[in-house]
Amino acid sequence: MASSNLVVTHADTGLVTAEVVRAERISPNFIRITIGGDDLARWRHLGFDQWFRLAMPVAGDATRFDRMSDRFDTRGYLKYLALPKATRPEIRNYTVRAFRPESNEMDIDFVVHESDDPAHAGVAAPWAISLPIGDRVALIDQGCGYRSVEDTDRVVLVGDETALPAVLGILRDIAPESVGHAIIEVPEAADRQPVEAPAGVDVQWIERKPGERPGSHALDALRGLPASAAEGAVSAFVAGEQQLATGGRRHLVNERGVAKQAIDFCGYWRQR
Ligand SMILES: Cc1cc2nc3c(=O)[nH]c(=O)nc-3n(C[C@H](O)[C@H](O)[C@H](O)COP(=O)(O)OP(=O)(O)OC[C@H]3O[C@@H](n4cnc5c(N)ncnc54)[C@H](O)[C@@H]3O)c2cc1C
Repeated sequence: MASSNLVVTHADTGLVTAEVVRAERISPNFIRITIGGDDLARWRHLGFDQWFRLAMPVAGDATRFDRMSDRFDTRGYLKYLALPKATRPEIRNYTVRAFRPESNEMDIDFVVHESDDPAHAGVAAPWAISLPIGDRVALIDQGCGYRSVEDTDRVVLVGDETALPAVLGILRDIAPESVGHAIIEVPEAADRQPVEAPAGVDVQWIERKPGERPGSHALDALRGLPASAAEGAVSAFVAGEQQLATGGRRHLVNERGVAKQAIDFCGYWRQR
């Protein structure tokens, strides 16, 4: 993970396994993978921007999840690295888009990014593009990055498309009387999603043009918020491409006087 101050909480649930039950392209740049199965009943559902390590079967049926560690701390990571490459799953970080305990189902929204250069094709995006219905996966819960603070006067939430599930999850789960601003940058207008948010939070969607740097418009929009956006006790969350996360945090601290500990920020990915 790139720069971040997210606190990791290791859930007692350890490794939770599931199966892909649905997979569909929901908009030009997103694929929604729905996973299900009895083991998901053990999932510790926290809401907000809850994220997890997703282990994917890129080695097909030969992939073995049973030798993975329950935790992805330093020890667990070293144990993972020692597993034979031919059969170990690949791991990437994802956010719970929706969890339905009544049917033991979880939705995960994958940003589709493609590259002609095999070195930049990635693992998770091509796996999602293959619409892998029936594949087994494993999840290791890592908790929430956003700290829901009581006595907050305003929220400021900023993300690019990879943080769309996080920002929409926070908007869904914060107190209904919350006020503030949310900025979500997506590649195309058709990637917007329905928003469930407190009436007092202004939600701004931004689209960029092909070739423009992801996150740059969201950062500009943050800089353009009125002075009142950061007045009082602020609870902020900035996530997405590395420069958005670090630039957003820097702006809030240096230009708006927001306390560092009031800002949860995370580089979700790095543009190369
Ligand atoms: C806490 C957390 C939560 C996250 N939640 C989500 C989520 O819900 N949905 C989601 O889509 N992503 C999410 N991400 C981001 C995701 O983990 C990364 O985008 C990841 O790199 C994708 O893996 P990959 O195998 O496709 O590409 P990688 O193998 O990691 O990278 C291959 C190449 O692809 C490029 N790349 C990676 N991601 C993108 C992108 N989004 N757009 C353009 N180029 C890219 C890299 O620069 C690199 O050159 C989250 C990240 C974190 C840390």
